[in-house]
Amino acid sequence: NDLASLMDVTANDVISACMSLGMFVSINQRLDAETITVIADEFGYDVDFTEAKEETDIVEVEDDESTLEDRAPIVTIMGHVDHGKTSLLDYIRESKVTEGEAGGITQHIGAYDVMTNSGKRVAFLDTPGHEAFTAMRARGAKITDVAIIVVAADDSVMPQTKEAINHAQVAGVPIVIAINKVDKPNANPDKIKEDLSNINILVEDWGGKYQCQHVSAKTGEGIDDLLDKVLLEAEILELKANANKPAVGSVVEASLDKGRGYVSTIMVQAGTLRVGDVLLAGPYFGKVKAMFDHRGQKLDAAGPSTPVLMLGLDGAPQAGDKFNVMESDREAREVANKREQILREQSIRTKKHITLDEIGRRLAIGSFKELNVIVKGDVDGSIEALADSLLKLSTEEVQVNILHKAVGQISESDVLLASASDAVIVGFQVRPSGGARKLAETEEIEIRLYSIIYDAINDVKDAMEGMLEPTS
Ligand code: GDP
Repeated sequence: NDLASLMDVTANDVISACMSLGMFVSINQRLDAETITVIADEFGYDVDFTEAKEETDIVEVEDDESTLEDRAPIVTIMGHVDHGKTSLLDYIRESKVTEGEAGGITQHIGAYDVMTNSGKRVAFLDTPGHEAFTAMRARGAKITDVAIIVVAADDSVMPQTKEAINHAQVAGVPIVIAINKVDKPNANPDKIKEDLSNINILVEDWGGKYQCQHVSAKTGEGIDDLLDKVLLEAEILELKANANKPAVGSVVEASLDKGRGYVSTIMVQAGTLRVGDVLLAGPYFGKVKAMFDHRGQKLDAAGPSTPVLMLGLDGAPQAGDKFNVMESDREAREVANKREQILREQSIRTKKHITLDEIGRRLAIGSFKELNVIVKGDVDGSIEALADSLLKLSTEEVQVNILHKAVGQISESDVLLASASDAVIVGFQVRPSGGARKLAETEEIEIRLYSIIYDAINDVKDAMEGMLEPTS
């Protein structure tokens, strides 16, 4: 319908054109970019795709090739709980203290950088887990170049291991596997490699393409080799940035400190940030009063791939918000005010997320076409059965989509996914984690829990029938 009106033809014309391509589409169906191009061509139009930009987005000038220099990789560590993410991050942070830095007080600021033995710098996001990774990505931040997936050698590939791999792959971030806890007597790295091969992750010494390193976050064994493998992966990416321009980057975390005001950890991704610069991050701005590294040492300037703790913003932006350095206070204030106004308006008319009870009402107003569902359950068999039955409930009017199905309790990342794609979560013989429950409340995501498959199917069916025959 939208495409038809853009081209000044009738919707039926577009539908027939689709049919001639063998596609049977409805009037409200979304078409992919390729189809749009072909159809538009039929009617004599060329298509120009532009990215949807916010009015308050700061336009960044593309860097000339000659201005680009190598930059350090930014790494995130992900994996199942208790497999050693925090221990690994701590070990790397503490073992890489260079002379002169010793004696500084290490602070958890959400990110740090270290010099490896080979004299190359690596920056780490010190917020382990894929929830933080996905939350930042949901806000449009691309702050990770390489992901280390940790698996404990005395355990197995677990649900969150799979999830972490999945999240990294969806984000197109290369993976290095760290098989941790090899110091333990019951460590069995070969079993982990076998587990990994069962989910199509074939490690190098098994003839696959994934680099893998045995490590111990307790003894430090293998950690330098792990860092070398990360650097190798980074080399392939040819990471570059222009250091000689006003800084741009992303917020890692921010909070209000009683003595110091708002403190924000930010990752400079290009350009150089200096004390005195006017920074704009999300709806907040301010002059950079002071900057520190994770050892509490004062910095005057920070170049690409450098995480810093900074003071001076007039509020706490959210993790994943972009930041820019602005020409003047006035300019920064103007954009910040505008963004704040937009946020306020959005929060007034926040779109409620879908619930089963809402379906009938939404269909009555029209335009409800898809029901997105996330299925979590205790065993594979029941998840498959439930997901299949739900899919079969699709009708001509309403398509049921299973966005994600997996074994395990309902996690915060399930809720984030539901929120990002307006889905309901169906749990079979599983419950949400405490964090997921809280997040679902604030995000207004419906979680339905069942212990009988038949009940789950019936509820969804009833809701959909309600929506097929709105009783007004
Ligand atoms: P996270 O939940 O993935 O962040 O895991 P932690 O880093 O908190 O580690 C979980 C537990 O495993 C802790 O008790 C750690 O001391 C222990 N641990 C982590 N790495 C190793 C290791 O390489 N060897 C041994 N023996 N224990 C480890």
